[in-house]
Amino acid sequence: MSIKVVALDADDTLWVNESYFRKTEEAFCQLLEGYASMHNLERELVRTELDNLPLYGYGVKGFMLSMIESATRISAGTVSAETIDKIIELGKKLLNEPIELLDGVEEVLRSLQGKYRLVVATKGDLLDQERKLKKSGLSHYFHHIEIMSEKDDANYLKLIRHLDIKPEELLMVGNSLKSDVVPVLNIGGHAVHVPYHITWVHEQINHTIEHENFRVVERIDQILAFL
Ligand SMILES: [Mg+2]
Repeated sequence: MSIKVVALDADDTLWVNESYFRKTEEAFCQLLEGYASMHNLERELVRTELDNLPLYGYGVKGFMLSMIESATRISAGTVSAETIDKIIELGKKLLNEPIELLDGVEEVLRSLQGKYRLVVATKGDLLDQERKLKKSGLSHYFHHIEIMSEKDDANYLKLIRHLDIKPEELLMVGNSLKSDVVPVLNIGGHAVHVPYHITWVHEQINHTIEHENFRVVERIDQILAFL
């Protein structure tokens, strides 16, 4: 491998994210449990969220709007302003969750620093991701922060052009096969999958990946064995 840049996904790769979303979903369902079963509430919320992705993009603010939309629909327009307030509070709480680094992250960054250019490649809300990175205390390790509206082939190509490297000089590390692995392999880069114990339904893919530029590790610090 002739890697020059190691790019890391942020949510559920550097720090805990999906667990907070799940906790918020649960709180939402409890708030609305007078209107439908937990199962139906959850299904409605997930469907609304996925339907709205092309309009809102990724991140907490779009998720908040989807919770409100689900609440009004499931209550047939009868949900109280007080409940809407509580939903907004759930969203604000989600935006203010602490940053909990995943095991081995700091060690990996410390040991790769200086050997490779380190980049964060994430999607989500710009302000939220910038705030999380600042709160994480990890900013100083990174040469560049790329916040993408979608992690697809075209945006990874834009990233490598911006970094002035060849595709085969990029190694992307992340928890999502769909966003962090497949498009990077498509453009000729290298990718490492570090699974997180829960995966958002939108990020799930149902085929296996076999590729000479692809590896799977259980913990992020295992990438040090080949870098
Ligand atoms: Mg992620």
